[in-house]
Amino acid sequence: MQIFNTLTRKKEEFVPLEEGKVKMYVCGPTVYNLIHIGNARPMIVFDTVRRYLEYKGYEVNFVSNFTDVDDKIIKKANEEGVSAEEISERYIEECKKDMEGMNVRPATTHPQATQEIDGMIEMIQSLIDKGFAYPAADGTVYFRVKKFDEYGKLSHKNLDDLQSGFRSLLVSGEEQKEDPLDFVLWKPKKEGEPFWPSPWCDGRPGWHIECSVMSKKYLGEEIDIHAGGEDLIFPHHENEIAQSECCNGRQFARYWMHNAFLNIDNHKMSKSLGNFRTVREISEQYDLQVLRFFMLSAHYRSPLNFSADLMESSKNALERIREAAGKLKDRKEAGQGSLTAEEQQLLQEALAFNAQFEKAMDDDFNTADAVAAVFELVRFANTHLSETSSSEFAGALLEQLLALTDVLGLIALPREEMLDKEIEDLIAERQEARKAKNFARADEIRDLLLAKGIILKDTREGVKWKRA
Ligand code: AMP
Ligand code: ZN
Repeated sequence: MQIFNTLTRKKEEFVPLEEGKVKMYVCGPTVYNLIHIGNARPMIVFDTVRRYLEYKGYEVNFVSNFTDVDDKIIKKANEEGVSAEEISERYIEECKKDMEGMNVRPATTHPQATQEIDGMIEMIQSLIDKGFAYPAADGTVYFRVKKFDEYGKLSHKNLDDLQSGFRSLLVSGEEQKEDPLDFVLWKPKKEGEPFWPSPWCDGRPGWHIECSVMSKKYLGEEIDIHAGGEDLIFPHHENEIAQSECCNGRQFARYWMHNAFLNIDNHKMSKSLGNFRTVREISEQYDLQVLRFFMLSAHYRSPLNFSADLMESSKNALERIREAAGKLKDRKEAGQGSLTAEEQQLLQEALAFNAQFEKAMDDDFNTADAVAAVFELVRFANTHLSETSSSEFAGALLEQLLALTDVLGLIALPREEMLDKEIEDLIAERQEARKAKNFARADEIRDLLLAKGIILKDTREGVKWKRA
């Protein structure tokens, strides 16, 4: 299996540190708002990488953090007049709902920065002790970039170029740095901000140190794969490498994977352009499986453009897979008998689609080609399934289709649809429960309907519902 490694800018054969096991860390979102569809790209892509590694038989320890202390979180908390913790907890919950909708599996561990402050203080102290960091007069601790000879190896930047860029960018308040390139490990508290005591000052950690510490705690000093969006290569991942390798004295991560960006209608997505879309907004219009299909229809290192047209064609494509799965299931349940000699032969032929799928995925997770292999299987099934097919034949093709779509995290056999009558009866029961102030039951019914993809809306004209 080949993985494109940002560190070497080459596809390399994947060899895990420990046979049969993979230690993988993916930088997660900063939780101050609902996640947007750009954030969804690394979630879907690296969840698929994880699923494929598992399909290949690896045991994957998958760690992905939530950054829950940050300027943006504090700003939002101040705007709403609530604590930073309330904001981060709220959006972690919302993020988890979106992940579930996109069929992104929960990580083995989802550490949160605010729960790991002790480890951060420890690592910063160790960097100071080793001469790689220094506290300034006001208690800010900086990393001494020039002390690390390999700085720039991930982003392929050279120190001289960085230096000239930084000199002109030196901002006031940073005169206390020994060198403009040095970056913050710990910063003093400001009025109204969360803070923790430390040997240098009451304050909070810099962003980069979080990931170095959480990766070490949950995966160890050396890991197999570290991943995130390409905007994180510099400075975030470059700085993580500097911190971890200087502290631990060994290579931090073997393979660095970065997804390209998602644009909207060929523009960068940004709040100021007003083209910002949250995953939640998309979920009001589409099953989030459609979003997942759309993301996987391109290679993760290619820029991807979001548009209404592409979402529509993704919806139709996913529908084709589901129709085929539905037909196979019906035949499996209705048909009888065991494989004929001809069917046996056909199943042998169909194995070629698995090989095609694996070849694509082995080539740096080429999901676009893997999806194409799934469609070939769908076409094959549509061609060869007939009224006389045996139950076993339909069942075997169905199993094959479900195994491949499952690696992509696509649900080919969706939940059984509820009938309108069943929905309306439950809504009536919920109204009764509310009237009787049995809110627990009312909530239970709403959640039950939600799980079946039915969204309720209370309006002046009563309760309205729609399918997600
Ligand atoms: P953030 O919350 O900004 O730290 O981002 C969380 C993750 O989403 C990081 O891996 C980012 O690289 C990634 N990301 C943010 N915006 C986009 C985008 N437009 N396209 C792809 N990935 C993105
Ligand atoms: Zn990170």
